Amino acid sequence: MLLSEERHALAEAGARLAERGLVIGTSGNLSVRRDDLVAVTPTGGVISELTAEQMTVIRLEDGAVVDGDLAPTSEVPMHLAVYRATGTGAITHTHATTSTAIGLVADEIPLVHYAMLSLGGSVRVADYACYGTDALAALVVKALEFKQAALMRNHGSIAIGSKLAKAVDNLELVEWSAQTYHQALLASAVTGRAPRELNQAEQEEVIMVALSTNYGSTKKISDGDSAETTEQ
Ligand code: 13P
Ligand code: ZN
Repeated sequence: MLLSEERHALAEAGARLAERGLVIGTSGNLSVRRDDLVAVTPTGGVISELTAEQMTVIRLEDGAVVDGDLAPTSEVPMHLAVYRATGTGAITHTHATTSTAIGLVADEIPLVHYAMLSLGGSVRVADYACYGTDALAALVVKALEFKQAALMRNHGSIAIGSKLAKAVDNLELVEWSAQTYHQALLASAVTGRAPRELNQAEQEEVIMVALSTNYGSTKKISDGDSAETTEQ
């Protein structure tokens, strides 16, 4: 089976996203690239139930199917356009509830939490175009410029990552950011205060601290001050 490892990883990612409530039924599609080939979920597949054998392998160059029995996702134009524009290694797209909801009423999720810096800061909303079209692909590419994720108006969300696990993490982080922003908007209606955003100096400080402490990784307790980080 061509791209066996990648196809198994797609099946695992689909099950995890469904388990966390980010994907319902056949909504959404996932892909992972190896060199000039891309393993993708099939169109119409129930994401949580797909097996590695049911994934399809296409060529990055032209989308031609090179392995698999099922027709690839209808969003092949979007996946290929994002790979070509970003050179990323994996793409996750679903119709996660709060990401979709925020995309209906805002043009971005502003930078309301420092964790969003790993997505490139604020998250843009790509304008609406019909699913599966080149027009949607172009709008999503534009919204993803310098970002690891975007919302898609009247549709859902998309995230990228060097590895599939990272693209899954990023999609979850977007949904968490959308939920946090949504809660803040609701509270804002009561307090009359708009959700506070991080300013430039605060962003730079977080980046400096996070880089110097290798934020997000466990650290062995050592004698001196220098923290020794452990492999994840
Ligand atoms: P596919 O089943 O063709 O992947 O379509 C689902 C979807 O989310 C379209 O945007
Ligand atoms: Zn979709």
